[in-house]
Amino acid sequence: MINALSIDVEEYFHPSELGIPPDVARWRSMPSHVVEQTREVLDILDRHSVSATFFILGWVAEQQPELIRQIQRAGHEIACHSYAHRLVYDLTPAKFREDTSKAVRAIADACGVVPTAYRAPSYSITERSFWALEILAECGFTRDSSIYPIAHDRYGIRGFHRFAQQIPTPSGPIYEIPMATAKLSRTRVAPVAGGGYLRLLPYAYTAAGLRKLNQEEQRPACCYFHPWELDPEVPRLTRSRVSSWRTYHGITGMARKLERLLGDFRFSTLSAAFPLALEARPKALAVGA
Ligand SMILES: [Zn+2]
Repeated sequence: MINALSIDVEEYFHPSELGIPPDVARWRSMPSHVVEQTREVLDILDRHSVSATFFILGWVAEQQPELIRQIQRAGHEIACHSYAHRLVYDLTPAKFREDTSKAVRAIADACGVVPTAYRAPSYSITERSFWALEILAECGFTRDSSIYPIAHDRYGIRGFHRFAQQIPTPSGPIYEIPMATAKLSRTRVAPVAGGGYLRLLPYAYTAAGLRKLNQEEQRPACCYFHPWELDPEVPRLTRSRVSSWRTYHGITGMARKLERLLGDFRFSTLSAAFPLALEARPKALAVGA
């Protein structure tokens, strides 16, 4: 079973949890760490001979085009993580279209690849921003991986279909690849897609969840993490205890956990784990199913 490994390439000041305003002028004055953090990720993937999908923030592509070329030269898949890390449900459809087009241009300018897979900042395609899928299809995207089928204070669509599915929109279909969850009971699921859940909880939690998904349900998982989550020296930007725990707890053990995950499970790009040819059966929207 090949699972998808994805990396959201952004700076340490971009996580929505930190509440840093989307003021691009202010971002430029903050020290950049994304290059060394992402190179560390590239080294780990190289050691394990794993290809992954890199969802690149358009702003980062503009600032660090050589990094994007380096990711592409290493054989990884280039995808889009918006331009300015704005939560989709805070935008109007027009602003979302503008941000997405700007991101596509910045990424294509940096490395020559027009991305066809999208991930929204903080999984912010929810029931109230479901309209975004039509705009993504209109902008040429064939895959989206922005929906977490769980309940969370900032993201998630509780009860959303847990497996990859073709979603029809007036601008054409888009293949939705939700983040991995493990089924606990008929109505309860647990998030096991990595990121904060891998960092904050014992390794055995994620490993058991992925095994359940791969072996009992015979489904590939879509997992993710951020380069800054592997950097014990990452500048700490919040004083809120809850935000600080959510953002920084477990960073020192994260690289070791990731290496263990790469040793215990098979991973590749989104395209390899979720090929478009296999999902020719269009399904109706599954919110609440
Ligand atoms: Zn992000």
